[in-house]
Amino acid sequence: MGCQGDIFVLSAPSGTGKSTLIKRLFDELRGISFSVSFTTRNQREGEIDGKDYFFIDDASFDKMLAENDFVEWVQVYQHRYGTARTWIQEKINGGEDVLLDLETIGARKIKEIFPKAILIFLLPPSAQSLSDRLRGRGKDAEEQISIRLKAAKQEIEYWDSYNHFILNDDLESAYNEFRSVFIATRTTKKRMAGVIQNVLDTF
Ligand code: ADP
Ligand code: 5GP
Repeated sequence: MGCQGDIFVLSAPSGTGKSTLIKRLFDELRGISFSVSFTTRNQREGEIDGKDYFFIDDASFDKMLAENDFVEWVQVYQHRYGTARTWIQEKINGGEDVLLDLETIGARKIKEIFPKAILIFLLPPSAQSLSDRLRGRGKDAEEQISIRLKAAKQEIEYWDSYNHFILNDDLESAYNEFRSVFIATRTTKKRMAGVIQNVLDTF
């Protein structure tokens, strides 16, 4: 069997630019899959069921909980979000990398369960720029924006559990740093052991 893939978790206050970076990464890199979470929140315009999230109702979420289908789940902004338990393990066993988009409590839970998971935190340059981005995105009501801004501070205060920090000021620099984390991980000893042996075997 080839070597296992790695688990990456990306967290950022809503509006920082997470979706923008994730989209670019999946347009560019192969060998990585996005963990599609289950959520009870409403589908936003432009979101695709089964790609961005699996949009399910409360009863279905309750059923999945009862059947222990989530490796972690949380309630944020009156809605629940959960990560499927078996999918991650299957992917990494098959040698694929996986990327999870989680808030800070879920990220720490994943680190507890998978201590080698690589946690990445994306930071907005300032509170003001975050509020500008949320308004500019035009997807949240004004009341939601102020809730998200309050939550942002609390999320950033959980920075200490993370391995990598990317400041999303200039988008190109931020993306370059983001992709580098994934690419550099593919050169680690664990990932390259088989290749090294193959090279040795040619001598
Ligand atoms: P998230 O997924 O973190 O909630 P988005 O990727 O939807 O955030 O980005 C929020 C808004 O900010 C979008 O309108 C996006 O185009 C914009 N944005 C993302 N990165 C930057 C950046 N570096 N500079 C300016 N605007 C940005
Ligand atoms: P949004 O509603 O903006 O898509 O997501 C709200 C927050 O929930 C984001 O911080 C996102 O990272 C987080 N989130 C999405 N899916 C999951 C999940 O399955 N588990 C956890 N813990 N957080 C999630």
